[in-house]
Amino acid sequence: MTQADPSPPPSPGAADRAALRALAIRLVEAERAQRGHALDLARMLQVLPLEREGGTRLMRLAEALPRTPDAPTRIALLADKLDPVDWSEAAGEHAGALGAAVRAAMPAARAMLPDARDAAAGTASSPLARALVMPAARAVLERIGAQFVHANDIGTALDRAGREAALHSFDMLGEGARGWPDADRNQRRYLDAIAAVGAVDRDRPCHARQGVSIKLSAIHPRFELPRFGRERGALLERLRALCGRAADAGIPLNVDAEEHDRLSMTLELFDALARDASLAGWPGLGIVAQAYQRSSASTVATLVSIARSRVAAGGAPIAVRLVKGAYWDAEVKRAQELGLDDYPVFVRKADTDASYARCARALLGATGVLRPQFATHNAVTIACVLREAATRGVAPDAFELQRLHGMGAALHAALGALATDGALSGGLPLRRVYAPVGEQRDLLAYLIRRILENGASTSFVRRFADPELSAAELVDAELDAFVAPEETAP
Ligand code: FAD
Repeated sequence: MTQADPSPPPSPGAADRAALRALAIRLVEAERAQRGHALDLARMLQVLPLEREGGTRLMRLAEALPRTPDAPTRIALLADKLDPVDWSEAAGEHAGALGAAVRAAMPAARAMLPDARDAAAGTASSPLARALVMPAARAVLERIGAQFVHANDIGTALDRAGREAALHSFDMLGEGARGWPDADRNQRRYLDAIAAVGAVDRDRPCHARQGVSIKLSAIHPRFELPRFGRERGALLERLRALCGRAADAGIPLNVDAEEHDRLSMTLELFDALARDASLAGWPGLGIVAQAYQRSSASTVATLVSIARSRVAAGGAPIAVRLVKGAYWDAEVKRAQELGLDDYPVFVRKADTDASYARCARALLGATGVLRPQFATHNAVTIACVLREAATRGVAPDAFELQRLHGMGAALHAALGALATDGALSGGLPLRRVYAPVGEQRDLLAYLIRRILENGASTSFVRRFADPELSAAELVDAELDAFVAPEETAP
């Protein structure tokens, strides 16, 4: 497989930077104007900011309560997490009904619960707490979890998606298969999802259809580097089965990016799929690249090279979804535990942003052989992508903008509003929503990633939610950091 040197980081000139800044500010202002219409994560963070005790505790409860099996432990968990927290902090200009409900309900609930220590010992689980607090708390917390789940099953998800303007890529919840029964169940769910998605909108071209996203760790219990030599064949067979069905159905299928130590295996398997003659004419084959990897530029160069070879051999272009990466905390922790000399990921957020822009530039320069899909909830990052596409004359139908279900709705609505006002010189690209489908009990790993991602002080969504920061201040801070020189060592 070819590895290319990274291209130099982008350094916008003064005129470019002014145009970029103006577009980004308009986008942030338009997003803030849309904000009131969507109850998404950005709005929830305004009501219960994660840097305050209440926000963090509520998110932790949302993750832990649905998988706690018995009533006494659930009571103990609630008593512990609702212990002295000042819920009056759920206030502010945008708190609205959600803030009022939290301010009223939480202290009342806490008053009915036993002392945290008694509850942990199981000695004081009051009937009142069980009868009143638990159902209410479960309902609120399931509502938070449900924020991230599009639907419980693929049929309902397709019905719902049919009523929404954007296209979707369905992610069947369940990853990191712990054994063959898990892996078999996930493979079956992927096959069923492909069949269901393939049955709708059959007359549309591949990229105008709903699609699916899959995780390799879901379909094989030992998707690990030391076992790869032995398990490669089985993995490829499973992957080919899924891709074959998606190709027959004419829908897009994206291979998600997971942890760094799985990257080389993922690229090798993807290369094999791209060369597979039986899949050659299918334009739906897609993969995800993570900009936070130090190796991101060479990963993107490898994917461009795979795409070129495929097209040169008479095959269809591939799709490449560019993300920043969802496993940052885990990557840093793992590198520390292993005592590695270096981290596999950048350790300054600005370097990840600069890397994203660099990768975006490389992808937009290769639209003849691939279809870039830019997945981000950062308005400044989107402004960079749109400026780059406009400068290069890349048509808006040659790429996509993607968001996660439960996040970025206001941002995508703002893009629509700007396009209507004629503020997007290149026009509006297709927008797609990554939509997790499944039961809340399978949401755990996904929800933890969203909580960590949005809880970080550098998170754009979190800074966006800060009413003290004007649009210009927010954009300037992002752009100043973004053009800062890249760090050489962690
Ligand atoms: P920002 O707030 O601008 O960026 C946050 C990101 O910056 C963090 O997530 C992290 O990547 C990075 N970061 C944070 N702190 C630091 C630091 N100190 N140093 C360096 N970098 C830092 N993720 C995957 O890993 N695999 C996937 O397959 C995948 N699929 C996705 C599909 C879609 C449609 C979307 C929208 C997201 C997907 N993601 C995936 C998740 C994605 O990686 C995160 O949502 C994204 O990183 C958040 O970036 P942002 O630009 O929205 O926000």
